[in-house]
Amino acid sequence: MRVLVTGGAGFIGSAVVRHLVQDKSYDVLNVDKLTYAGTLTSLEAVKANPLYRFLRSDICDGKVMSDAFASFRPDRVMHLAAESHVDRSITGAKDFIETNVLGTFTMLECARTYWQQLEGEAKERFRFLHVSTDEVYGSLGDQGLFTETTSYDPSSPYSASKAASDHLAKAWFRTYGMPIVVSNCSNNYGPFHFPEKLIPLMIISALEGKPLPVYGEGTNIRDWLYVEDHARALDTIAEHGRVGETYNVGGRNERRNIDVVSRICALMDDLHPGGGRHADLITYVQDRPGHDARYAIDASKLETELGWKARENFDTGIEKTVRWYLENEWWWSPLRSGYDGSRLGLMNVSA
Ligand code: NAD
Repeated sequence: MRVLVTGGAGFIGSAVVRHLVQDKSYDVLNVDKLTYAGTLTSLEAVKANPLYRFLRSDICDGKVMSDAFASFRPDRVMHLAAESHVDRSITGAKDFIETNVLGTFTMLECARTYWQQLEGEAKERFRFLHVSTDEVYGSLGDQGLFTETTSYDPSSPYSASKAASDHLAKAWFRTYGMPIVVSNCSNNYGPFHFPEKLIPLMIISALEGKPLPVYGEGTNIRDWLYVEDHARALDTIAEHGRVGETYNVGGRNERRNIDVVSRICALMDDLHPGGGRHADLITYVQDRPGHDARYAIDASKLETELGWKARENFDTGIEKTVRWYLENEWWWSPLRSGYDGSRLGLMNVSA
């Protein structure tokens, strides 16, 4: 199996690449532009493996992408490359439109040209998995869950750009009959998560004795999934999902943001005892504009139809994650000093 992964130097993409190379022994070509959010240090574990190769490129570059298809000849594309940080999309949406919308369009067109030339079993086998987010569905009230038939209602420039890319992927299935599958997942957490996102930011700031900024009253609810569970889900969906279908991915782990931060503080009290009472560092800040109140995923279709189940529950996963950040400063420290947090004002509870 030869898999072209886009965005494989990012948080989820690197987990996907590690899973495909180490657990599945697949041939992987990782195409990544290495924006501020991508780092090859997340791929130390596979970089010397002959099954793994890397191409530094912008997915918007149609010439390079069609050459990559022609030379690598993938059986499968797993398209994860994206601008992914909601706060950044509010202060500058252009990169989000370019990468998430135009980049997805470029990938679909290059894949279509390549797929149309395939024959027989190779054509039958080919799949294009478009990886997306539950944020396209907008916000839930107190009750209910997002299902695959929930109407799209995005709130931020990020989620609007992802919604647009989902529609493109589905249109390429309906119009051209391309073998496309779409996944929409809830918030991920785990190792190799860029330090600007909620969970790593809170762990690292607590370690440094800095304020832990929480938007509004911290009552927004997110549904957390351990990143390695997501990587397995994506592999399952790409392999067994029905073409033209959407699969929601989630771990049934709804938590209020303040409860996530409080849990991290309690773990830090145990694991970093010299740091005092970490909950005293929590600081409430003005809410993000358009901040969705609640996300929660119904993953029944993926569980019953394809037999996937999340292995990690939030309590064990968050402890593993806190321990990982405490033990892997070599990974996050250069990234933390390498970006200008002031550009965004308070960089905080975006997940
Ligand atoms: P990330 O920001 O950590 O990684 C994105 C990667 O894409 C980076 O390596 C970056 O260098 C690369 N990239 C960005 N623009 C590119 C371009 N123009 N050309 C080539 N590479 C480019 O993101 P992530 O959190 O790993 O998310 C991966 C995918 O999963 C995204 O499509 C995102 O929408 C989706 N998703 C994320 C979450 C989450 O909780 N993080 C949840 C559901 C879905």
